[in-house]
Amino acid sequence: MLKVLKFGGSSMADAHQFAKVKAIVDSDPSRRVVVVSAAGKRSRDDHKLTDLLYLCYAHLQYGVSCDAVFDMIRSRYLSIRNELHLSTPLEAEFAALREKMDRGISQDELVSRGEYFAARLMADYLGYDFLDSTCWLRFRLDGTVDQPASYEALRRTASGRRVVIPGFYGAMPDGSVKTFTRGGSDITGALAAAALDADVYENWTDVSGMLVTDPRIVENPEVIETVTYKELRELAYMGASVLHEDAIFPVRKEGIPINIRNTNRPSDPGTMIVENTC
Ligand code: ASP
Repeated sequence: MLKVLKFGGSSMADAHQFAKVKAIVDSDPSRRVVVVSAAGKRSRDDHKLTDLLYLCYAHLQYGVSCDAVFDMIRSRYLSIRNELHLSTPLEAEFAALREKMDRGISQDELVSRGEYFAARLMADYLGYDFLDSTCWLRFRLDGTVDQPASYEALRRTASGRRVVIPGFYGAMPDGSVKTFTRGGSDITGALAAAALDADVYENWTDVSGMLVTDPRIVENPEVIETVTYKELRELAYMGASVLHEDAIFPVRKEGIPINIRNTNRPSDPGTMIVENTC
């Protein structure tokens, strides 16, 4: 049995959330492959790390000092590390990144570092191996994912191992970093689940599944227990958003169900997304 898990930004926001992720992963030995997003907001008026990285890049573009923003990013990750008593050597990596930013860095490479650092920390915390997505997730020159090459590379490197993989990015044929569109860590998780023929793709977020209506309008709406891929498409068309739309195809094709779960309420069963309900 193999479960591939993806944790979104709110599950990665601080040391407290990291502890919840660890408890979830440790509670089931089949949870061997973990894909993570960059640290998200800790509260309503906090910032997502990925947004800060885009902001950093904009500063670089306009020749305005990005030191203050860069420092916010660096301190977020260093404080998670320190609070969890990890010894991940991030200082040197942040210094090297800052130097690269002065020499010239692509937007994709810079914004991908949110997931990179989050995955490094999570790998150390869980005692799993860190597996960089540039080592397996291959894009073609036209920007589409080369699925056969990516699947083959992931099977070769991850089979039988316990790994943490950064979401959101992969490598172009020349080795440079390329990201998906926003929210793309869902796609990384789906590709990893399909490549490794997982029994289920667990997508851990901050709601207990798909809700029957918008919680901003109706208080405490019910959770949908099971939904088919087809129904999901219709719901998405009507504005329901739980997953990146490109995350469906890879798992659906392999007949792998998606289970939407809540990191803050791990005993809730969440929503199962399946091919059919018969
Ligand atoms: N961190 C990226 C974003 O904010 C990707 C993701 O979270 O899925 O869009």
